[in-house]
Amino acid sequence: MPELPEVEVVRRGLDPWVRGARIVGVTVHHPRAIRRHLAGANDFAAALVGTKITDTRRRGKFLWFPLDSGDVLLGHLGMSGQFIVNDSAHTMNRAHLRVSFTFEDDTQLYFLDQRTFGGLWVEPGAADGTPPSIAHIAPDLLDPAFAMAPFAAALKGRRTEIKRALLDQTLISGVGNIYADEALWRAQLHYRRPTASIQSSELDALVAAMREVFAEALTAGGTSFDALYVNVNGNSGYFDRSLKAYGQKDRPCPRCGTPIVREAFTNRSSFYCPRCQVL
Ligand SMILES: [Zn+2]
Repeated sequence: MPELPEVEVVRRGLDPWVRGARIVGVTVHHPRAIRRHLAGANDFAAALVGTKITDTRRRGKFLWFPLDSGDVLLGHLGMSGQFIVNDSAHTMNRAHLRVSFTFEDDTQLYFLDQRTFGGLWVEPGAADGTPPSIAHIAPDLLDPAFAMAPFAAALKGRRTEIKRALLDQTLISGVGNIYADEALWRAQLHYRRPTASIQSSELDALVAAMREVFAEALTAGGTSFDALYVNVNGNSGYFDRSLKAYGQKDRPCPRCGTPIVREAFTNRSSFYCPRCQVL
């Protein structure tokens, strides 16, 4: 599943292609991809054709493109969402094609989604630039709107375990299971530590660790990025090369050599070092 760094790689990759582009055609190939656009495919297309995309934005795992009409085109990649520009290499699997866009300069933008948990929709923009349907999503660590003091206060007030808090998109967005485990390992915090017990210095270390893993993942995503093929697959170079804890069950902790432990966590897993990350 794409997490924040993968979605940011997609935003950066799309930006030079879509910013300033005028949409002249929209085809919806599968209604499920626009199910959040309640007025349907014809209305979705009508709201977009003739408009110009003025910017590319992201919060957590949501992408949005402000339009010169005042509306915004929103997108979420879900489990398997993908954008492809022009498909010059003919690598696109048309069975997964959900929505096609044609721009005034004949550029083609395709939205593909094998499992169709993702989707696109149009809604009116808000005065502060944040689309109404994602106003409840907290800023992420790459967002200039992120501020440490309100985050720390909200976290302490939540009275839960630290990893559950990190995955709560109303506290901080964009942190998924993999990046939570990696950041907690770096900060040497057990995933079940009660939020009320976390000291300011520990929280600072945790936020710094999250910024580090995001930065490394963005670098890795950037290196595999092809300008003509904007891709998200959850298997970026970062996942293969740099994971210290996540998916490393029974392998030695890179810091102390103790075998990494895997425990069930909600319907997923938590990976941690039992020596470096003591409860
Ligand atoms: Zn260790």
